[in-house]
Amino acid sequence: MNKVKSNKANLLKIRIVGDKTLRMEAQAVTEFDQELRDFIDDLTYTMYETDGVGLAAPQVGVSKRIFVVDFYWAEDGAVKKPRVFINPEIVFSDGKITHEEGCLSVPEVYEKVTRDSHIKIKAQDIYGNPIEEEFKEFPAVVFQHEFDHLKGILFIDHLTKMKYLLHKHKINQYLKRTNANGENIQN
Ligand SMILES: [Zn+2]
Repeated sequence: MNKVKSNKANLLKIRIVGDKTLRMEAQAVTEFDQELRDFIDDLTYTMYETDGVGLAAPQVGVSKRIFVVDFYWAEDGAVKKPRVFINPEIVFSDGKITHEEGCLSVPEVYEKVTRDSHIKIKAQDIYGNPIEEEFKEFPAVVFQHEFDHLKGILFIDHLTKMKYLLHKHKINQYLKRTNANGENIQN
């Protein structure tokens, strides 16, 4: 992704589970304009500031089909290689991988989730140009996690009922403690 804006990016507020935008189906992006690029700069900046490897637009309250990722920046001596995917689709998937996941929108919960280990995707870049790519293993996991956000799905939805209930209790205690949304999660 090329930076096209010179002024400073803004830190966006991360929405926490219980927030309605996290559960909405995100809308396709149709305008590839400066406003979009400014938003993506802010989204990318926020991902790094919050130590994320991925951040989807609904997580900052914007219900659009956009996410940013940087798979290895934390391990790569902090060499940043941000990627943005707009209007993404998964067109092929194969294999299984189980990996521990966490989410900036689901504080203090880390659990193993099984996903497809090999995916082929289509998306658009910040100018609307088509992207086609393949991801395997960890990048495939991250892509699917972020892709889920665009459908209103959180990684805890993939857990067994028993594990979910355990974490729901923890999450509600967190929400009570921080008053993140002013309400508990209901289901
Ligand atoms: Zn997430």
